[in-house]
Amino acid sequence: MGRFFLLFLLPMLLFGTSVKPFKWQDGESFLTFLERKKLPQSIYYNLDKEDQKLTEDIPYSANCQMLVDEKHIIRQILIPVNDELQLQIYLTPKNRYEMQVTPIVSQEYTENLYVPIQSLPYDDILKATGSKNLASEFVKMFKGKVDFRKGFKIGDPIVLIYTQKYRLGKPFSMPEVHGAMIEINGKRVTVYRHSDGRFYDEKGGQYEKFLFKIPINNPRITSGFTKSRYHPVLHRYRAHLGVDFGARPGTPILATGDGRVCFAGSSRGYGNTIKIRHSNGLTSLYAHQKSFRSGIHNGTSVKQGEVIGYVGSSGLSSGPHLHFGMYAGSRAIDPLGVMKKKTEGFSGKERKTFLALRDKMDSIFKKVLRTKPIKKPYFDFDGTYYVDISTFKPKPF
Ligand SMILES: [Zn+2]
Repeated sequence: MGRFFLLFLLPMLLFGTSVKPFKWQDGESFLTFLERKKLPQSIYYNLDKEDQKLTEDIPYSANCQMLVDEKHIIRQILIPVNDELQLQIYLTPKNRYEMQVTPIVSQEYTENLYVPIQSLPYDDILKATGSKNLASEFVKMFKGKVDFRKGFKIGDPIVLIYTQKYRLGKPFSMPEVHGAMIEINGKRVTVYRHSDGRFYDEKGGQYEKFLFKIPINNPRITSGFTKSRYHPVLHRYRAHLGVDFGARPGTPILATGDGRVCFAGSSRGYGNTIKIRHSNGLTSLYAHQKSFRSGIHNGTSVKQGEVIGYVGSSGLSSGPHLHFGMYAGSRAIDPLGVMKKKTEGFSGKERKTFLALRDKMDSIFKKVLRTKPIKKPYFDFDGTYYVDISTFKPKPF
């Protein structure tokens, strides 16, 4: 027992390093964070523009980790930017702090969930999986199609086919639902995710309503949304958490949807920026503006299509353009994924693809319904980003 204890303790005594988890503070800027941790501001100023901008997209409450040695010196810090990339601050052997953007390594598993209704679908899914994200995704998929407050019999089945990311055995990030099914008094209602990422019914009709509009007339996309991409020339990882529209300086910028301005001001990276909060919980962001329309300030109510400002090149921008972002909470999502789209159904090759996908899902639903429904929770899931310091990649010295 004593020897075992010593063996366990020895590495700690020798190296004395410890891992301290912490959450990213609501609204704290990266420079303030460095100041608070007594880290040099050069970490930020040595970054190129794109990486500097990335630091403004660290989600609130992101699960970060800090490796501290026996002399209380910070050796490394990991800050996740989304579910694919993280900022890694580290101390080099020359005692200099540097930062790089590295991928978060994770495993993905596709899971089938079969839950009989006991109370309400949201509660039952949450109870079975511990995942608030999965439960709310399910409710969102059936919104407007099924009234979750009535008509259920105890034991009516729910089936969900989804992919969940795991890191060191723990789920993290949003699950991706491929298909879902609910049976109410013998009537089956199904929803399928098509290859365009949107949800459709069995005929290829759309469930989701897209309330948003492209924020510029005659749009010309110069850079799309990406959570993580390896730049083959720069040899580094990049993320672009919005869509860039190239336009002449002074081109009007339009509100993508009805809402209320929740930020109108300046940020270092994004320059003159307006944020609008919409009723469905999403927030849109319009960056690098030349100026705001007069009368637009924090708290102003705006209508869809209303001019809010003008295209410019303020902040860390290489030329006049509108950087347009969309956020669910503080997590960046693809803005084009929530834009209005015609819903007349599929034709030709796309129809074939959808029908094949639907039939495959239907056969999985059938198979899953023949198995035993889930009885107890099988994982703990708090829905926040999770990274582990023990799997740090070797430093590039
Ligand atoms: Zn951009």
